[in-house]
Amino acid sequence: MALTPDRVRAYRDDYRAESIRAGYHGWRHLATMTAICITAICVAVSMIVSLGWAELAIIPITWVIANLVEYGVHRGPMHHLSVGLGRLYRRHTSQHHRFFSSELMAVDSHRDFHVTLFPAWMSLFFVGMIGVPMALATYWLLGRDAALLMYAAIVLYYLVYEWLHLSAHMPKDSLLGRLPPVRFARSHHGLHHDPCKMRRANFNFAFPLGDWLFGTWER
Ligand SMILES: [Zn+2]
Ligand SMILES: [Zn+2]
Repeated sequence: MALTPDRVRAYRDDYRAESIRAGYHGWRHLATMTAICITAICVAVSMIVSLGWAELAIIPITWVIANLVEYGVHRGPMHHLSVGLGRLYRRHTSQHHRFFSSELMAVDSHRDFHVTLFPAWMSLFFVGMIGVPMALATYWLLGRDAALLMYAAIVLYYLVYEWLHLSAHMPKDSLLGRLPPVRFARSHHGLHHDPCKMRRANFNFAFPLGDWLFGTWER
């Protein structure tokens, strides 16, 4: 069934009526998620005792790994129903991809952040599920301070991912929507919101490293 603009609008009405509670405030949601991430980053960095210049290479290495994890999770369980991760599939493919299409990419108000940002508790889950095992592996290989730096870098990547994905769904003429990196993210991610391409192209949200490496980058 084609995802026409009329169908998208009808689904938006249903989603808003059924899934967004009256007291929900999108900017408060964004502020809560941002505060959780910045607190985690500050705590981790404040616990670092000493770092050499060479250890700062952990930051770009972590971001490359995080980019590939983001790519794999989006291309895999977010678009293919899998055991134990059904909620992730329903939230992304069944809700997010029906709420936004290539033609209707922008939110109508801050209340539509509900279908774009992960719930704050899910942010904690992702950061814990991905960040803690990677930090523990780094602790075992390189020690405590390197592990703390890696953890902070993962949380920062997640924060940038959430902000950029949300920005890609802001109106083109909004303050965020006019920024050059956001214009790129909107064009890259907008193509992924074409139902014919959502399981084939542009799985990275902001930095298309995984798409480039695995040949799924379409322009
Ligand atoms: Zn999206
Ligand atoms: Zn998707």
